[in-house]
Amino acid sequence: MNILVTGGAGYIGSHTVVELMNAGYHPIIVDDLSNAHYRAVDRIGKITGKAPAFYMANCTCKEQLRHVFSQHKIDAVIHFAAFKAVGESVKKPLEYYRNNLDSTLTLLEVMEKFGCKKLVFSSSATVYGPNNPYPYKEEMPAIQSTSPYGWTKVMIERILTDYCTAHPDFCAVLLRYFNPIGAHESGLLGDDPNGIPNNLMPYIGRVAAGKLEKLTIFGGDYDTPDGTCQRDYLHVVDLAVGHLKALEYAQAHEGVEAINLGTGNGISVLELVTAFEKANGIKLPYVIGPRRDGDLPAFWADAAKAKELLDWEAVYSVEDMCRSAWKFAKNASV
Ligand code: UDP
Repeated sequence: MNILVTGGAGYIGSHTVVELMNAGYHPIIVDDLSNAHYRAVDRIGKITGKAPAFYMANCTCKEQLRHVFSQHKIDAVIHFAAFKAVGESVKKPLEYYRNNLDSTLTLLEVMEKFGCKKLVFSSSATVYGPNNPYPYKEEMPAIQSTSPYGWTKVMIERILTDYCTAHPDFCAVLLRYFNPIGAHESGLLGDDPNGIPNNLMPYIGRVAAGKLEKLTIFGGDYDTPDGTCQRDYLHVVDLAVGHLKALEYAQAHEGVEAINLGTGNGISVLELVTAFEKANGIKLPYVIGPRRDGDLPAFWADAAKAKELLDWEAVYSVEDMCRSAWKFAKNASV
């Protein structure tokens, strides 16, 4: 089966492509490399023993997408390609709305033209917004977010829901990710953002590697057991496997379905720091700083629906996440 993977050279995309190839699918990567490196594509080839099909193309360009669809009979699409930095999205809202919405609309138009009716969409727990109690369940209102980035996910979920109403034979699975961390066991793929990382684990990796001086923990006075924020961290390989399960589900179903991908457990920033130190025998210098604007004190997934509909649950431990993240960060380029 030919699976178009937009954003397939990125962090979650590249791990998903590896799992697809290991399972016998034929992934076709489309990535404009605006926030990814071609070396990830090379490394997928090293890990799997086979080079994946790759097109350097931008999903907002209909001509480029049409070209890819004309070269391969695409059976389903996994759509990762998007701008994803929360803080940057506050400063550049138009770029985020234009890119994330336009790429999805263009993709849907081209899929329709070529009769492709199966889509797995990379959504986020951010769609639960600031007002739902945790653990988050899929039936809660997911109609509000806290940044332009998050709003693009809310809006795209809406677009896909409306599209499925108008096209009852289409299937869109909206995967709401919690906090993916960790890396491929080979140490060849991982989260390697350009510039200073915004997310916690790549920041920890750079501190551990001596490339950044110390970690600043954003806030130590939250109403949580140790005063730091709690999140549902899951291993990126578990997340990648979740996409294969969602793909199988989409093959057999029609309509729209939102599904959380998380472990169902919350752990705090301090707990993650301690777990990293213990798993890798490293001391991590850190200070407690002020809270970061827009951070929620705590949230995690209710993971029951993924188990029920996809027969998926996270299997890797926090220790696995920390060990693999360090194995990758030690050798990362930046
Ligand atoms: N965080 C932190 N220091 C950092 C980066 C993140 O203390 O340098 C905290 C952040 O406040 C949040 C958690 O780590 O509580 C996870 O943040 P991240 O940006 O990785 O993911 P988010 O949950 O915001 O999507």
